[in-house]
Amino acid sequence: MPARPGVPELFDISPLVSRRIGVFPGDTPFSRDELMWIASGDPLDLSRISTTVHVGAHADAPSHYRLGGAAIHERPLELYFGDCQVIDAAVGRGQRIRPADLAAAVEAPRVLLRTGTFPDPDRWNQDFASLSAELVAFLHDRGVRLVGIDTPSIDLQPDKALESHNAVADRDMAVLEGLALAAVPPGRYTLAAFPLKLEGADAAPVRAVLIRNAGSDVD
Ligand SMILES: [Zn+2]
Repeated sequence: MPARPGVPELFDISPLVSRRIGVFPGDTPFSRDELMWIASGDPLDLSRISTTVHVGAHADAPSHYRLGGAAIHERPLELYFGDCQVIDAAVGRGQRIRPADLAAAVEAPRVLLRTGTFPDPDRWNQDFASLSAELVAFLHDRGVRLVGIDTPSIDLQPDKALESHNAVADRDMAVLEGLALAAVPPGRYTLAAFPLKLEGADAAPVRAVLIRNAGSDVD
């Protein structure tokens, strides 16, 4: 849609959540059961869902990777809203992103990394790229408080040591995983990606949106 002056442009960076969406091997897939149907004479349509809290675009809570860490309902909303930068990462499948792989200088306190290594959320590929502990420290040193990625995890799928999750936990940074960034040009935006307020949960789905103010010099 062409930008109109003064009208914010919205980029939806959440994949569609359906029965088809992939989840980590062994995790609970998404399903939705319809309990009442208007079409069959019920007064309402009514359904329930069953899913991992790590489905689609989601925010990890510190309690996901650290004993005694904060649950998702305890995280400050400010982490998930505000000045944000989408940066291309020149990294191959199955590789960790190093600082030298970033295509732009870090300028915002929220950074979303576009790797293109998990192109179809409905077709799980195990060899997606991830962050590295080195990159997490590099971003934190530049004032970054939230880091997001267009893959299911900030660590490689085979990694049981979770080096990036630990690096994030040590610095109390926020994490977004499972973002859909293919259609978003690199640059500066306002991010809005609030997690659902699930008491005690280790993560929560987000509806992640990037907002670009038409007519501003941000691009
Ligand atoms: Zn997660």
